[in-house]
Amino acid sequence: MPELPEVEVVRRGLVPRTVGRTVERIELLDPRIIRRQSGGIDRLRAGLQGTTLTAVVRRGKFLWWRLADPDGVDTGEALMGHLGMSGQLRIATADGRSVDPGAPSEGPASDPLRHRRLSLHLEDGTRVDLIDQRLFGGLWTSPLVEAADGKLAGMGSPDALMPEGASHIARDLLDPAADLPAIARTLRARRSGVKALLLNQEVVSGIGNIYADEALWAARTRFDTPGDALSQRRALAILRAARAVMERALEVGGTSFDALYVNVDGRSGYFARDLNVYGRSGLPCKRCGTPIVRKKFTIRSSHFCPSCQRKR
Ligand SMILES: [Zn+2]
Repeated sequence: MPELPEVEVVRRGLVPRTVGRTVERIELLDPRIIRRQSGGIDRLRAGLQGTTLTAVVRRGKFLWWRLADPDGVDTGEALMGHLGMSGQLRIATADGRSVDPGAPSEGPASDPLRHRRLSLHLEDGTRVDLIDQRLFGGLWTSPLVEAADGKLAGMGSPDALMPEGASHIARDLLDPAADLPAIARTLRARRSGVKALLLNQEVVSGIGNIYADEALWAARTRFDTPGDALSQRRALAILRAARAVMERALEVGGTSFDALYVNVDGRSGYFARDLNVYGRSGLPCKRCGTPIVRKKFTIRSSHFCPSCQRKR
């Protein structure tokens, strides 16, 4: 599954290849990819054709393009996208093949020939392909609303406007406008276990299972510690650790630890060395030597050191 650092790499790849270009035509190959579009393909075409893409913005794992009409006036809508479980946004080359604008894709591979669901044809000949094997991703337009805190709406945003469809999502930890002390206070105001809170997109967005386990190990906190049992200092330490793990993933091209771990191939060993706790059950804790434990947590599992991360 594309994780936050991977989506950020995609965003950075799309900026130089799409911003400033006008949408000439939409090619829809599979209507399921626009199921979240109210009004269907006619509405999508009406909202996009002839508009210019003016920015590519990201909050959590949501991406959106800002749109301007032929007079350069903001249309009041964004073109939103989500990659779901297996989605990829790729730029097609002149010979019709598509290349990933960011990191080489990992995880459940979507075949560019079989799984291309929609393409945006831009006026300069650029073709942006949405390729998605499992169809949990999608593209759709959404009206712009003001971000609740009035700050820049997300990475790459020119202002505080954001699509309504993403406005319930909290800021992520790579966002310079993320207010860590405020997020820490939100964690401490809840009774749920801290890991469930870290995975709650309305508290803080973009933290996946691996990042949560690694952050909790770094901050010596067990996954089921209630939020309201955390000190402000510990809550901040957890958030800073989560940010550090995601920044490391971004440095290596945004390829998620998750995908690499799942794809046990030649390269996974390199990244596995970087992980302190995830996927290491039975192996000694790198801090104290106690074997790491894996415990069922909702539909996934949590990895932790029973000695460094005690129940409190
Ligand atoms: Zn330990």
